[in-house]
Amino acid sequence: MLSLIDPFARAISYLRVSVTDRCDFRCTYCMSEHMTFLPKADLLSLEELDRLCSRFIGMGVSKLRITGGEPLVRKGILTFFEAMSRHLQTGALKELTLTTNGSQLAKFAQPLADLGVRRVNVSLDTLDAAKFAQITRWGRLPQVLDGIAAARAAGLRVKINAVALKGFNEDELFSLVDWCAREGHDLTFIEVMPMGEDMGDGLRLDQYWPLKDLRARLADRLTLTDLTERSGGPARYVRIGETGQKVGFITPLTHNFCESCNRVRLTCTGQLYMCLGQEDMADLRAPLRASSDDASVDEAIRAAIARKPKGHDFDYSRQKVAGQMTRHMSHTGG
Ligand code: SAM
Ligand code: SF4
Repeated sequence: MLSLIDPFARAISYLRVSVTDRCDFRCTYCMSEHMTFLPKADLLSLEELDRLCSRFIGMGVSKLRITGGEPLVRKGILTFFEAMSRHLQTGALKELTLTTNGSQLAKFAQPLADLGVRRVNVSLDTLDAAKFAQITRWGRLPQVLDGIAAARAAGLRVKINAVALKGFNEDELFSLVDWCAREGHDLTFIEVMPMGEDMGDGLRLDQYWPLKDLRARLADRLTLTDLTERSGGPARYVRIGETGQKVGFITPLTHNFCESCNRVRLTCTGQLYMCLGQEDMADLRAPLRASSDDASVDEAIRAAIARKPKGHDFDYSRQKVAGQMTRHMSHTGG
């Protein structure tokens, strides 16, 4: 089958799939405390997810990241991982991975490793139990630390993703770096994005902590060397001389990665977003449910990729955030 090439000659090889909008946490920058979730019938079934992902893999997608919501709270999720693992066995899929809050890893780490998952991203913004409970509202730190330990015991590589929040985890910058160095985890900081409508007691614009500043603060005390490697995404990496560890910076609001963008995102309802920063999307659920013949699904995928925009237009420079997204990360999958 012909591979997926967009109008700017970028090959689409990376699909991020949100398998649920539900979550057992209520992180303040991501969800309001009293979220209304989608009716179950709107969600793609595990079989539909399998069918759709398999079409993408047939068209050259070689990396699949499962996300949410919290992917590990989706009922029967291992069945889906098992289905995807057949593409690892044929070699069509090079990497099957997930982004999780870690709450269910104690239970799932070993089965995931057995199915061919090699790496996992765990979101963790603080190592202070009280602050963890505050930012996640419903999360409990020891449970997540147990999950991370289980992942390591199962042989999974762990990357910690920490959202940089001014006045919240600024004081933990070095303790997070030290902890990851000690434990052998990779670490990436994420710049907070304006997502969703006003979340009341949630994220405030004054919590925005530009990673440029965070990086400068690291460089005050540590020796940072830029690494040239890129993932085709918004992350940049440095090596820390003192510890040898790799630290990443994800600045989704800058344009510096659009030209190499190799990814698209599928929501749990089957909407394909061609760019994280644009509203345009394609509904793949309708052709999926209309017929068991895959031809119209393939056609819808190709038509969507043909509309992938060159870049996005977030702009933090004005106090009012231009290009502010109205959808939640839990819907599109972070
Ligand atoms: N529940 C899983 C987790 O927390 O890792 C997967 C989904 S979560 C939406 C994916 C990532 O998006 C997490 O690392 C989270 O910190 C990040 N995220 C959520 N809201 C964000 C925002 N407003 N700005 C930046 N990152 C955000
Ligand atoms: Fe749940 Fe992840 Fe959003 Fe936190 S960031 S509320 S863990 S989906």
